[in-house]
Amino acid sequence: MSTDIKSMTLPELRAYLTSIGEKSFRADQIYGWMHRQLVTSYDDMKNIPQSLREKLKEQMPLTALKAADVLTSGIDGTQKYLFELSDGNLIESVLMKYKHGNSVCISSQAGCRMGCRFCASTIGGLNRCLLPSEMLDQVYRIQTLTGQRVSNVVVMGTGEPLDNYDHLLRFIHLLTGPEGLNISQRSITVSTCGIVPGILRLADENLEITLALSLHASTQEKRESLMPVAKKYEIHEVLNACRYYFEKTGRRVTFEYALVGGVNDSEQDAEQLHRLLGNGNFHINLIPVNPVKERSYVQPDRTAVLAFQKKLEKYGINVTIRREMGRDINGACGQLRRSRLAQKEEQGT
Ligand code: SAH
Repeated sequence: MSTDIKSMTLPELRAYLTSIGEKSFRADQIYGWMHRQLVTSYDDMKNIPQSLREKLKEQMPLTALKAADVLTSGIDGTQKYLFELSDGNLIESVLMKYKHGNSVCISSQAGCRMGCRFCASTIGGLNRCLLPSEMLDQVYRIQTLTGQRVSNVVVMGTGEPLDNYDHLLRFIHLLTGPEGLNISQRSITVSTCGIVPGILRLADENLEITLALSLHASTQEKRESLMPVAKKYEIHEVLNACRYYFEKTGRRVTFEYALVGGVNDSEQDAEQLHRLLGNGNFHINLIPVNPVKERSYVQPDRTAVLAFQKKLEKYGINVTIRREMGRDINGACGQLRRSRLAQKEEQGT
């Protein structure tokens, strides 16, 4: 059995409490404190007897993320959180405020081993996968700190969620369960670099979440040059897996396409992209690449971005340009964590 109490399902928690001689209704109370009241310590669980609290502290430490830094954008109110895990690892999460509600972008791993050339999160490699509770707690802490309900969650921060499949799945069930925050599955998006077996498995889970694929190129060759993972899973194989996802779930897949100046942003690239995808039931999200200090990629100018979009629209493709949020606060994936780690290296700590 897991020794991480906040990663347990309610039935697991009931089984655990009865196994240590407690009444199973205590599990419902404790679960409510952790996943609805979002408390971070057993001492805050007012209706739990002191003796049980002490026993739990010893047997099942309740851990919570600590906010190590918070940056707020002066442009759009976007907030970037740097959280410290109980073992000292750092992760980051982003809160974006939209008219339709608050959206939180969470990390699924501390670091990443996928190696995408334009991405800051992967520079130091993978430290470890996050526990379900550590994914949940990014949402919980942000909701508590802001006092505002989180209505959408995107798993698009540091890490490859399908490289942490079992924890991801448990996280989704805990987050959307009626005894927890009860966030709608339709309000959750999982973004992957294209791990085919993971996509196929996810399609069969009977979920209503949105899948986003980081496509970023219209040919196998270009994709390989930007994303090493493409060598393992060929572009058509990845697209077939997405098609399967759509057939099984009825959920339209989003293709993310980071526009990199002089690399994949020409009108010819747009033409090729149309040839590759056809006119199926999908959506393309264009993301002008966010320059990363350690990388040499540049953002295309606005004219190239708009021309790319126009070209796709002419083919009848559903396309949006991602609004850049938090431009002034190191917006791109993994950059805040990266700069903090670089600082630590400099100080030799
Ligand atoms: N590993 C998953 C989710 C994390 S990355 C994935 O690959 O989808 C989230 C998204 O941000 C991906 O589409 C990724 O390619 C993109 N991304 C990473 N670095 C970026 C940058 N510097 N500029 C623009 N998009 C970036």
